[in-house]
Amino acid sequence: MNVAIYPGSFDPFTNGHLDILNRARAVFDRVIVLVAVNGAKKSEFSTAERLEILREALKEMENVEVDSYEGLTVDYAKRRGAKHIIRGLRAVTDFEYEFQLASANRFACPGIDMVFFMASAENSFISSSVVKELRRNGADVSSLVPESVIKAYERKGL
Ligand code: ADP
Repeated sequence: MNVAIYPGSFDPFTNGHLDILNRARAVFDRVIVLVAVNGAKKSEFSTAERLEILREALKEMENVEVDSYEGLTVDYAKRRGAKHIIRGLRAVTDFEYEFQLASANRFACPGIDMVFFMASAENSFISSSVVKELRRNGADVSSLVPESVIKAYERKGL
């Protein structure tokens, strides 16, 4: 079975992430969406909340699994027998960071490769930060994120 990991902060998960996931799961037998836990990063949603949002949003997708991990994604991938890590690319600005990340992953684990999907034009401006900024200032973000994100915002009173 050809398994791939799609790691990210997903704080929160957006329709941009969803687009990349849908395209990745058309290529791989199974995709594991991995909430990468990074203690140093300040997040709006806790790991448990992010997992709950993802499980709700992706529950109909049979070849998709949701998990979280604190540590190197390549170590998690090795443990799960995955040989590919999925990432998305929006503007050129993403390239430099992703290129560095790919090189670091290759250094840590040469047997695992990164696979990149380009953002669709209509999703290319969507990022978790944009969603947070808009929501914080009272804008309607319901067309930018799955419904489970809106529900999570409402539960938190944000
Ligand atoms: P991280 O904090 O690890 O960069 P993110 O949660 O911001 O994680 O994003 C995870 C991955 O999804 C990254 O590769 C990012 O470039 C990609 N991504 C985020 N938003 C979009 C989008 N609108 N279109 C395509 N890819 C995206």
